[in-house]
Amino acid sequence: MRVLVLGAGVAGASVAWSLARRGAEVVVVDRLHDGAATLAGAGIVRASLGITEPGFVEAYAAAVRHYPRAMRDLAADLGRDAADEVGYRVVGGLWLSRDDAALAGVEARLRAFGPEQVGTVSRLDPAQAREAFPAAAPDLAAVHVTRAARVDGRRLRLALLAAARAHGATVHDDDARLSPDRTAAELASGDRLEADHVVVAAGTWTPAVLAPRGLGVPITPQRGQISHLGLPGTDTSHWAVATAIGSSHYLLAFDDSRVVTGYGASGLTLGPYLGERVADDVLGLPSADDAAGLAALDPARFGAGAR
Ligand SMILES: Cc1cc2nc3c(=O)[nH]c(=O)nc-3n(C[C@H](O)[C@H](O)[C@H](O)COP(=O)(O)OP(=O)(O)OC[C@H]3O[C@@H](n4cnc5c(N)ncnc54)[C@H](O)[C@@H]3O)c2cc1C
Repeated sequence: MRVLVLGAGVAGASVAWSLARRGAEVVVVDRLHDGAATLAGAGIVRASLGITEPGFVEAYAAAVRHYPRAMRDLAADLGRDAADEVGYRVVGGLWLSRDDAALAGVEARLRAFGPEQVGTVSRLDPAQAREAFPAAAPDLAAVHVTRAARVDGRRLRLALLAAARAHGATVHDDDARLSPDRTAAELASGDRLEADHVVVAAGTWTPAVLAPRGLGVPITPQRGQISHLGLPGTDTSHWAVATAIGSSHYLLAFDDSRVVTGYGASGLTLGPYLGERVADDVLGLPSADDAAGLAALDPARFGAGAR
């Protein structure tokens, strides 16, 4: 089976890898536009208190649990330590506050996830919170979970594409649009690629890729903002992922003495898991046991023909 994947941020790269490792002939077309979200994403991979939409809650939880297996599969395909290569590390997660009632509320909600999702939940006094995240203000206490990780989206995307290539996928640097009449894509270079299936994973550009086919999906650009701060000489490699309770802002750190502050969403977490589920769907394989929430993400919800 030949499958075209249009767009290779974390979503398209994950689909391409999952399809290729299951034996499909995969052709990826990606023109890395300015604004590609995967290059901007902060990299938090942990249970989210901000996601409440039925269906999405379950899919997101499954995606968090899926990460360690995705890292093992990636390492097997690349023949090297993928977790290190993509900056994936389980560093623990903190929710910080001065307000005891707020901490108690967050602790109760985190405990409700269960240990499979968040590991061990505990309260930290301000000194312990600063051990986990040394840049925290000295009067902030915290709720801590052991199962929280971070990943570098840029490096993850490259590793996913390298693993897809190792299974025979080809990647074109070009601009693509769906063909108006066939299961095919038309490229800006003038080439035309035909396939049995086309997966459109073009992020915020998805409506433009679908347009020649008369399909519409309500995807619009969303503003994201992030800062990368250098702390030369400081070992930040094991700093926890930290969120201030009552705010959607967060901080995390990577191995290269770098702290990231940001405001963003969830696609780096969802990518590897949903990539595998989309590959199942394209190949007609049965859904995974934990795919209960996927109906909520079905593009068919945008109208007939969107799938
Ligand atoms: C500031 C910020 C912080 C974030 N933090 C987190 C986080 O901590 N944790 C988390 O899980 N998520 C986070 N996210 C969200 C995450 O980064 C995105 O949800 C995810 O990267 C989206 O991936 P994507 O593949 O759908 O889209 P994109 O990465 O935008 O990829 C789409 C790709 O399609 C290509 N393309 C588009 N049109 C065409 C065309 N016509 N032809 C060829 N190629 C095309 C684009 O160039 C691009 O490469 C954050 C996002 C932002 C902005």
